[in-house]
Amino acid sequence: MNVPFLDLSAAYRELRADLDAAVRRVAASGRYLLGAELEAFEAEFAAYCGNDHCAGVGSGSAALELALRALGIGPGDEVVVPAHTYIATWLAVSAVGARPVPVDPTPDGLSLDPALVEAALTPRTRAVLPVHLYGHPADLDPLLAIAERHALAVVEDAAQAHGARYRSRRIGSGHVVAFSFYPGKNLGAMGDAGAVVTRDAALADRVRLLRNYGSREKYRHEVRATNSRLDELQAAVLRAKLPHLDAWNARRARTAECYTRALGGLPQLAVPATAAWADPAWHLYVIRCAERDELRRRLERAGVETLMHYPVPPHRSPAYADDPAGAPPGTHPRSEHLAAAGLSLPLGPHLGGDEAGVVVEAVTTAAAGLRAYDRRSPAGTPRTGKHWTEAFGKGSRPNG
Ligand SMILES: *Cc1c(COP(=O)(O)O)cnc(C)c1O
Repeated sequence: MNVPFLDLSAAYRELRADLDAAVRRVAASGRYLLGAELEAFEAEFAAYCGNDHCAGVGSGSAALELALRALGIGPGDEVVVPAHTYIATWLAVSAVGARPVPVDPTPDGLSLDPALVEAALTPRTRAVLPVHLYGHPADLDPLLAIAERHALAVVEDAAQAHGARYRSRRIGSGHVVAFSFYPGKNLGAMGDAGAVVTRDAALADRVRLLRNYGSREKYRHEVRATNSRLDELQAAVLRAKLPHLDAWNARRARTAECYTRALGGLPQLAVPATAAWADPAWHLYVIRCAERDELRRRLERAGVETLMHYPVPPHRSPAYADDPAGAPPGTHPRSEHLAAAGLSLPLGPHLGGDEAGVVVEAVTTAAAGLRAYDRRSPAGTPRTGKHWTEAFGKGSRPNG
């Protein structure tokens, strides 16, 4: 039996009648943008997140970018981002003309390291951008405390964390939170879509302005802006899926539990940790292995599809080769280690128990004979303020 990484058509098969009806409803309405479906989805998703406002946009990238722009962040500003994330987090910062300032996660890889965040602050820092990576919530409270002390915005990247909880607070209930509804995410559209969820009515209004050519009223353009809307078809699809999100996340959690129970004792691997304060959405199940590439080859031969999230850290990507955020190997050692050792096993709400069993068998067999994974010292010491002074030059000295 072959096990694909993720079967997206399974969600369609489960909800076929509802999804077909949603698509037909929009097709027949003659209204394809900025209509009743979007308005209803925005209300329903804000309520799901326990927040006040939701503004649908064209993608998760657009949600991050327009949230930053709505906060007035742009050229000359710096935004602290995780070194270990999907590059889209960084690209959104670059897109508004600001500079991503990467820092390593805590040694367990679960969250931005608050000590490193403090060390990376400069007089130009405007925001901290934590990512709830793999569906595991970032440790928000220490970051909110830093932001409060230094008068910074906190913009959360929740593209992988629909439905997760942090200290029983729903991810999405924060001040400014960006979501992606890319098809493979826990709540996925049948194309690109995203949203900014916020407590701030003025900020939501600003995102709605920025997503629509800077216009509230036809022929009147208040600011130079873009076109990035969550269309009616995607809104209707997301409305059909949203009521199933919690049940789907629960199924993901059951598979994750099964993997952890079966694989947690293998000396060649580290299974993903869950912090005491976290109720993850289990977007991904990422193990670590010293011989990741060999393990991946063996699993492929056994018919188990795996992916890497993500094999090249953004600071090593050609996209940042000419940017101060781009940096030589060793600069963000924890992130580099996670990029070299991380392997994502098949996981999704429609992965069957028999398939999970095949994965467990295959990983157990494939891991035999590989080098043991050293859980104590997976990485070196991240560079702090000194590195930033060197990279950014004088006048960009870290605070305190
Ligand atoms: C998917 C993703 C994005 C970007 O979302 P898109 O809808 O693909 O533009 C941003 N950040 C993270 C962490 C993501 O996983």
